[in-house]
Amino acid sequence: MEIWGMPVRDILKYITSGEISATEVLECYLNAIREADPEINAFIDVLEPTARMDASRVDALLREGDSPGPLAGLPVAIKDNICVKGARCTCGSKILENWISPYDATVIKLLRDQGAVIVGKTNLDEFAMGSSTETSAYGITRNPWDLRRVPGGSSGGSAAAVAAGMAPLALGTDTGGSIRQPASFSGVCGLKPTYGLVSRYGVTAYASSLDTVGPFGETVWDCALLLEAIAGHDPLDATSAAGEPAAYTKRLEGSVRGLRVGIPRELLNGVSAQVRELFDNTLSTMEDMGMIVEEMSIPPVAHAVEAYYVIAAAEASSNLSRFDGVRFGRRAPAGTLDEMYTKSRGEGLGKEVVKRILLGTFVLDSGNKDRYFMRAARVRTLIKREFEKAFDNFDLIVSPASPDVAFKIGEKIEDLLTMYLADLITIPVNMAGLCALSMPMGFVDCDGAALPCGLQIIGKPFDEPAVLKAGYLLEQEIEAGIREEVSSMRRKLNPVRECELVD
Ligand code: GLN
Repeated sequence: MEIWGMPVRDILKYITSGEISATEVLECYLNAIREADPEINAFIDVLEPTARMDASRVDALLREGDSPGPLAGLPVAIKDNICVKGARCTCGSKILENWISPYDATVIKLLRDQGAVIVGKTNLDEFAMGSSTETSAYGITRNPWDLRRVPGGSSGGSAAAVAAGMAPLALGTDTGGSIRQPASFSGVCGLKPTYGLVSRYGVTAYASSLDTVGPFGETVWDCALLLEAIAGHDPLDATSAAGEPAAYTKRLEGSVRGLRVGIPRELLNGVSAQVRELFDNTLSTMEDMGMIVEEMSIPPVAHAVEAYYVIAAAEASSNLSRFDGVRFGRRAPAGTLDEMYTKSRGEGLGKEVVKRILLGTFVLDSGNKDRYFMRAARVRTLIKREFEKAFDNFDLIVSPASPDVAFKIGEKIEDLLTMYLADLITIPVNMAGLCALSMPMGFVDCDGAALPCGLQIIGKPFDEPAVLKAGYLLEQEIEAGIREEVSSMRRKLNPVRECELVD
């Protein structure tokens, strides 16, 4: 039996029935990492020894007839801005190069308690600021579909790890699109949960009022499974929502007949012709399934990017002030306190991060606060209200997940405005505190490579069940072609991958 490439659902079934061990599954993925990661660089650290301990704990429980939990033995890759006890948490930054986390984030504790195997820490744009994973101090991550291209960002390492078959599941964070856009560029599924549904305790804050933690998986079912494991109230996170999360995997089946789906005109601005064509085909499939698709408008989203970059930078400038060489990470030798701050931050933080801290400090300055920050906050309220109104008439809102397919490495890094503008489709969801799924809707031929492209399904706050169900049922209609492309891409990256099961 070949473990590698097997659907997560089957891996889980075979582990719990004792037909394969968690250790065998882990070794199979560690081999895949050894083979593919030197080219892709999805991982900052692979946690081999502790992952082996996690896996053998699961195997021991199973041998004794105990249940290791719903994630029994599934390897999960973790974005490197989420704390895993005893492992480095670099956030993609030089300033935290040697910082070891003294505790587990709540999401990591939940994963471990439910039998997951924490396989490694994945690459990201420095402090999650970016859309391409090019601003990491640990090298760029390459897109498994075309090594000349970016995997998206900032959770590019997590997306690429799942896409290339180096981990069946991964966690990322999404402040303005950092799960959904890399999922789109890398041909995997990713979910940005409703703000407050998943604990942020132990997750390095970028823009606290927008940050969320969410799952990556190959399929919608995989995302539902991982979300189920990490959702829920956490007294350690003051913004965590009260109430019981749903059993997401149990609510995927059924019908979407009669579901009202809105397509905001503003989210189609700037979408490339090839992505538009795929999107229109997907809408036809949705109509064939009985959904009622209608174009509509949410005017204030046109200003979402400007308002987002003011708010996110303002919050980042405050959140990142703790990285000053005193308590965390790298401290530069210096004669005075001021010099120590300046040198530690100057040497430890990258260009993009410094730019955002300066911008954030500027918009919060007493003379500028009303003009920029307060105005941006008002735009945010308007966006939120307009979405609320839209959801009076629609059950779901749908758009492409990104205006185009993955761009080439280096193509946008010098022209940041185009990089920022490409976030237009994902940012409004964070501004309004909604949930949204990004799932593959097909491929576009580009320079001799088939490049994946994602669909975004947006739902009301805490309506993850509706979003996941629509995605799951739609996936059955478009699945076959996608699976074939995924297998052939992975065979190219791992020409000799076979994981034989020892009886
Ligand atoms: N690209 C956006 C930014 O740079 C979003 C990043 C994110 O979601 N973490 O801020």
